[in-house]
Order: sequence, then structure tokens, then C-alpha cells
Amino acid sequence: MSISVKVLTRPIDEVSYVRATMKGMALTFKHMINPHKVTVQYPEHRDPLSARWRGTHRMLTNEDGTAKCVACGLCPAVCPANCIKLVPGEDEQGNRYPLVFEIDEFRCIFCGYCQEVCPEEAIHVGRHYENAEYSRDGFVYDLERLTAQTHPVCEMWDPADPKGE
Ligand code: SF4
Ligand code: SF4
Repeated sequence: MSISVKVLTRPIDEVSYVRATMKGMALTFKHMINPHKVTVQYPEHRDPLSARWRGTHRMLTNEDGTAKCVACGLCPAVCPANCIKLVPGEDEQGNRYPLVFEIDEFRCIFCGYCQEVCPEEAIHVGRHYENAEYSRDGFVYDLERLTAQTHPVCEMWDPADPKGE
């Protein structure tokens, strides 16, 4: 069986590496002389986060300091990353509470579904992102750690105010 070879001519005008490189360098030089520099000197200076930023979680508490969570099970059920662990408990009066509540911030995709679905407005994604750790275990936030967070919580998308104005 003979093998046919099809030779394609390279469209030099469209795929020239030299031209692409020159364009990239021109853009670089343009930014070098741009007086309106946008580099932020982090961490000394920080741009304010959007009110709708979704970052590190917070568990809100009741006046007596206990978590507002009633262990309904909705947030682990809705979580697309399957990163919420909940073990529910129940006291003598039949009130449910979380025996174990953990969120793996490393697996979380910060969709905010847990906040949206929570009937008690207990769990929130927060306006916070500085949560680097040296090990994966450090990203698993238990109930104590979640309730100890103090950063502002995310203001979710409001259909009445789609641009967040
Ligand atoms: S923000 Fe989304 S992915 Fe993260 S814990 Fe909540 S539901 Fe799961
Ligand atoms: S949805 Fe709210 S009340 Fe239900 S388990 Fe999650 S945090 Fe607790």
C-alpha cells in the first residue's frame, strides 16, 4: 500500500514567530513607559476585595458562642467538591448540632453553594484569601477554627442588583 504525503505550506504571514515576538516586546516596552503603573506593593498595600469575594469560610455563632449550624445536612449534600464533613448530634431536647463539621479549603472551589443553601445562615464564604499552609492537613478547618474566623463574609449575588452597585 502506498503512502501519500500531503505537504502543507505554512502561512508565514499568520504564524510568524518573529512577528509575534516583536508584538510582545512592543507591548512590554509600552508598559515600561506607562506612567499609570498598576503593580500593587503587596502586602504593604492591598486592594479592597469585592463585597462578593468568596474565600475562606466562616461559621457564625449564637450569642452563647455555639455554632449556628443545626446539622441539617444541606451544605454537604449540595457541595460539588464534596469537601464538607458533617457528623450530626442531637441533645436531650431534640436540638440538632454538629458533632463534627469540617471544610477542606484545599478541595473547595468557593462556589458559595453552602452559604446559599444554609437555612440558618450559619456557614459563609468570606472575604479573605490569605490562608496558605505548609501541609494539606492545615487546610482542613474544623468547627473551632471556622467559628474563630473574624473576616467579613461574602455578600452573595443579588438578582435585584446584578452588577453589585
Ligand atoms: S463553597 Fe462550594 S465547594 Fe466550597 S465548601 Fe461551599 S459548597 Fe463546597
Ligand atoms: S446548611 Fe447550615 S445548618 Fe445545615 S449543615 Fe450546613 S452549616 Fe449546618
